[in-house]
Amino acid sequence: MYHVHLFEKNQRFAVGKIVCLGRNYVDHIHELGNEIPQEPVLFIKPASCIIPDGGRIVIPPYSSDCHHEVELALLIGKKGKQIPPENVFDHIVGYGVAIDLTLRDVQAKQKAKGLPWEIAKGFDTACPLSDFVPAANIADPHALQLTLSVNGVLRQNGNSALMMRKIPQIVAEMSAIFTLDEGDIILTGTPAGVGPIVSGDILNAEIEQVGRLQVSVA
Ligand code: ZN
Repeated sequence: MYHVHLFEKNQRFAVGKIVCLGRNYVDHIHELGNEIPQEPVLFIKPASCIIPDGGRIVIPPYSSDCHHEVELALLIGKKGKQIPPENVFDHIVGYGVAIDLTLRDVQAKQKAKGLPWEIAKGFDTACPLSDFVPAANIADPHALQLTLSVNGVLRQNGNSALMMRKIPQIVAEMSAIFTLDEGDIILTGTPAGVGPIVSGDILNAEIEQVGRLQVSVA
C-alpha cells in the first residue's frame, strides 16, 4: 500500500487512485500546441507511481524525453460521488505538491495512435508527492505560486489563479465519473514551463504555503 501523511493532524492515508486533470492552464496548453478542451481531460495514475520527498525518479528505458509538471495536489478525506461544486471543500482535507512526470515522446506516440496514456504517465516513480498540509491552513487555494527548478534553474513559475477549471468544478466533474474515496489524490494541472529531465538532475518543486519537494533522477 502507498500512504501519504497529513501533518499537524498526524494522520496517514492509504492512497487508492490519483485522478489527474490535463490542460488546465492556458499557457501550458499553448506551449504544447493543444486545443483548449470543452470537456475535462482526465486520466488516472496508479498509487504505485508515488515516491516521497527525497525519492529517486527512474526514467523507463522506452523513453528519452521525460518531462516535469508541477501541480497542486488535493487529498480527499471524505468519500463522495457526484459531489456538488458547493460541497467540494467538505471533501478536501489537505493540499500537497506533486510532480506529474510525463514521458512526452511516448505520450505523443500514444496520442497520435489514439492509444491510452498510462505507459507515459503511470510508470513507477511517475508521481513524486510531498506530505500534505491541512486544508484549513490554506485560505485561498486559487492564489498560490507554483515553482519548479531543475539543478537550481527556474523552469516553471505559475499561479493557481490561472487554472481554467477551479477546484469546485474539477472535483465535481471528476466525482461524476469516479467515486472519490478517502485517500484518493487529485492533480489539478500544470502551468507553463514543462521540460525534460535527465539522469543526475535535482528537481525542487514548491507551492507557497503548501510545501516543497526535492527529488533526483537516477
Ligand atoms: Zn499534468
